[in-house]
Amino acid sequence: MNGDCIFCKIVNDQMPSSRVYEDSEVIAFLDIAPVAKGHVLVIPREHYDPITATPDAVLGHLIQVVKRVAEAQGNALGADGINVSQANGRCAGQVVPHIHFHVIPRSDQTAGQSKWAPKRYADHEEMASFAKKIRAALQ
Ligand code: 5GP
Ligand code: ZN
Repeated sequence: MNGDCIFCKIVNDQMPSSRVYEDSEVIAFLDIAPVAKGHVLVIPREHYDPITATPDAVLGHLIQVVKRVAEAQGNALGADGINVSQANGRCAGQVVPHIHFHVIPRSDQTAGQSKWAPKRYADHEEMASFAKKIRAALQ
């Protein structure tokens, strides 16, 4: 429990939320400012942040709940597609520093709104150098 954290307050019922799922480790509730109606946030009850400091077992459980929520959005809302996103750090657009996955139902009417603005590498060498650095760090 982090006393300053909005999501910890939601977990502890110190703030209201529209819950759609809960178990002993994870809760899921509607985002108060949805990108599309039915937009759900999936969070652990324990306060972890960012993704790199979140235990693998917790992440595994979170992503299983994300999958179930996505299935439910397809079945209950007739979503034609689903975005799953997760931000770490202010420069990545994160506002609430308690790990969470956004699960956003999409329909054909809103197609295209979820695309990121793609950039280009200067050339193949620059692309190869990024791959090399990340590959080395993964060993
Ligand atoms: P982030 O930008 O950190 O990835 O996403 C945080 C999300 O939390 C935002 O989409 C925002 O609308 C949502 N949010 C912030 N405060 C509250 C709240 O008090 N209740 C609910 N249900 N969602 C919140
Ligand atoms: Zn928290």
